[in-house]
Amino acid sequence: MKKKLAVTFVGLAVFLPLIMFFAGNCKKAEFHSFKMDTDIRISGQGRDMAKAAKEINELLDNIDKNLNSHSSEGMIFELNSGKRVALPADIAEMIELSEEVREKSDGAFNIAVKPLIDIWGFSHGKSGRVPEKEEIESAVKLIDNTKIEISDDGISVSDGGKIDLGAVAKGYASDRSREILKKHKVKYAILDFGGNIVTYGKKPDGTDFVVGISDGDGGIYAYVFTGETCVVTSGGYERFFEEKGKRYHHLLDPHTGYPAKNGLKSVTIISENGTLADALSTACFVLGEEKGGELAESFGVQAVFLDEKGKVFTVGNPKIKLESEKED
Ligand code: ADP
Ligand code: MG
Repeated sequence: MKKKLAVTFVGLAVFLPLIMFFAGNCKKAEFHSFKMDTDIRISGQGRDMAKAAKEINELLDNIDKNLNSHSSEGMIFELNSGKRVALPADIAEMIELSEEVREKSDGAFNIAVKPLIDIWGFSHGKSGRVPEKEEIESAVKLIDNTKIEISDDGISVSDGGKIDLGAVAKGYASDRSREILKKHKVKYAILDFGGNIVTYGKKPDGTDFVVGISDGDGGIYAYVFTGETCVVTSGGYERFFEEKGKRYHHLLDPHTGYPAKNGLKSVTIISENGTLADALSTACFVLGEEKGGELAESFGVQAVFLDEKGKVFTVGNPKIKLESEKED
C-alpha cells in the first residue's frame, strides 16, 4: 500500500524540536513527529509553546493507542475483541456526533465500517487486495449500528460488529489539542495532522492564516484564508493500492462495500469543530458532490469540493484562492 508524500525520516517516532528562538519573552517554535501513521507538524508562538507541543504529542500517542482500530492494545482493540469498555465523556460525545453524521448522511459515514476496512486490508503497513464479492456482501451485513450498545457503564459491540474511528480520530485530536494550546496561553499556532489543519489564536500582524489544500499530486490547488478554525481534507489519494492497473482507495461506501466512486478527488471542510469537520469530510467524499454539498450545508459548515477533472465547488462561501488564479 502506498502512502503518498511519505518522507524517509517520518518512520522515526521521535519528537524533534527543529527551530526554537526567543522573540521578546515569547518563544516561537516548530516541532515535527510521526504519530497516528501521519507526519505531524506543530508550530506557534507562546512562552510555553514547547510545553504545549510536548503535551499535544503525548495526547496523540494516547489517541493512537486507544482509538486506533489497528492497534493491538487500548480501548478500541478491547471493544472490537468483544469486551465491554468504559466510555469517557469526550469519547462518548465523539461517538454521538458520528452517529448524527451517519443518520444525516444516510449511512454514507459509519463508524461500524471496520469489517469492511479489514477485508480490503486498509490497515497500517498492510498491502490491500480486492476481496471476493461474497466477502464484501458478508462484511456489509456486519455494518449494523444496532450491534453497538451504549449505557452508563460503558460501550460494547456484539455479533461480529466492529468499530473504526479512523475518520474522526484526528478531528478529535484537533479539538483536544486546542484545549492544550489554550491552557498554555499560546498566542497562535498551526497544527498539521496530515490533512487535518488547526489554526489557533491570532497572528501578530493581524493577517489571516493561509492553509494550502493538496491537489493529491504533490502540489496545492487552493488556499483557504481563515481565522481560528479547522481545515480538514479527505481524499482518495491519501491511502490506496493498485491491482490490475486499477486504483482502490480507503474511503469506503458502507452500502456497496467498495471504495466510493463519484468523480471526486477530495473534500475539504472548514469548521471550528474539528471532530465534525473530520466526520463530514469523509461523509461528503463518500456521498459525492450533490448530496455531500447538501450535507455540508445542513451542518452550516464551509466546504470545498474538488472533482477529478479539476472543477472546484464550494459551500458556505469560504475565503479561498485557487492556485490557478494566483498572480506571481
Ligand atoms: P484520513 O484518515 O486519510 O485523513 P479520513 O478522515 O477521511 O481520512 O478517514 C479515513 C478513514 O476512515 C479510513 O482509513 C477508515 O479507517 C475510515 N473510513 C473509511 N470509510 C469510512 C466510512 N464510510 N465511514 C466512516 N469511516 C470510514
Ligand atoms: Mg475524516
